[in-house]
Amino acid sequence: MRILVTGGAGFIGSHLCERLLKEGHDVICLDNFFTGSKRNIAHMLDHRGFELIRHDVTEPILLEVDRIYNLACPASPIHYQYNPVKTTKTSVMGAINMLGIAKRVRARILQASTSEVYGDPQVHPQTEAYWGNVNTLGLRSCYDEGKRVAETLMMDYHRQNHVDVRIIRIFNTYGPKMAENDGRVVSNFILQALKGEDITVYGEGEQTRSFCFVSDLVEGMMRMMETPGFTGPVNLGNPAETTILEFAKKIIDLTGSTSRIVYRPLPADDPKQRQPDITLAKQMLGWEPKVSVDDGLRQTIDYFRSVLTSA
Ligand code: NAD
Ligand code: UDP
Repeated sequence: MRILVTGGAGFIGSHLCERLLKEGHDVICLDNFFTGSKRNIAHMLDHRGFELIRHDVTEPILLEVDRIYNLACPASPIHYQYNPVKTTKTSVMGAINMLGIAKRVRARILQASTSEVYGDPQVHPQTEAYWGNVNTLGLRSCYDEGKRVAETLMMDYHRQNHVDVRIIRIFNTYGPKMAENDGRVVSNFILQALKGEDITVYGEGEQTRSFCFVSDLVEGMMRMMETPGFTGPVNLGNPAETTILEFAKKIIDLTGSTSRIVYRPLPADDPKQRQPDITLAKQMLGWEPKVSVDDGLRQTIDYFRSVLTSA
């Protein structure tokens, strides 16, 4: 098949492009390089099945494809808050433009949505039936509400125009090729630990997250794309929940670092807890994460070590 991956030069997108090429597909990677990097895709540029288009999803484009994975959108709070109006435009206009292609050429389209549609959740763990608790006015809402509208557009194009859609709600994902400068907890803690710098826990570190290794996520995405007749939404994440303080200690342990833990103010609207209920993914996709957090973190630590030594 010919498969379009928007945001293909980003962290998750570049892993997805690699997997799709390995399975023998032709891949078109579309990216404006806001948070993505050429380094993530450099090794694929010579592959005859790989094509790169520098383009912004907020602008229309004509392409002939069989599948669209719509991932284009900055994902870390510092990046999506850098230009919040653009973040909302990317999710909303990006979804409209990609749905326009899907409608015209009858391609199947998968939207990368997020656990952020649940906001600061009052139901724990989160099932797909939960409608969420998002502050429409807060600093995170450009991302959260943009993704919620993208989900709405998927379902309206599906009902109105019979577009074949898929919605996945991705929970915190980590692994090699995460950007060093994106301020997310995994990259921050590992880099701080490897450099012997203080580890910055926000708040008391009692908030929880559940971290999924990127290869597990990519497997779930591809299964969702190829499962007939199931639009979702479906949660994709690793239910192994940890407090951020425990997570900091684990990283000190795995790196053998001498770093100290220091406490910094908790950012506004930071969700207090997050854990996916993946019953639906297990039932519908036969999917669950395979990589343990310790194994995944070891691979990620090795990656950041190599980034630091090559810098
Ligand atoms: P990332 O920032 O590494 O990748 C996003 C990619 O989209 C980058 O390559 C960026 O340059 C590109 N992009 C941004 N705006 C664009 C635009 N207007 N036009 C074209 N390209 C644009 O982030 P990621 O972690 O790989 O996330 C990928 C997708 O998964 C995002 O949609 C994100 O919302 C979603 N997601 C990620 C996580 C996670 O934990 N990583 C969790 C939930 C959802
Ligand atoms: N966090 C932290 N120290 C950091 C970066 C993040 O304690 O240096 C916390 C952050 O407040 C949040 C959690 O770690 O509670 C996950 O943050 P991240 O930005 O990775 O993802 P998100 O908040 O979008 O889940």
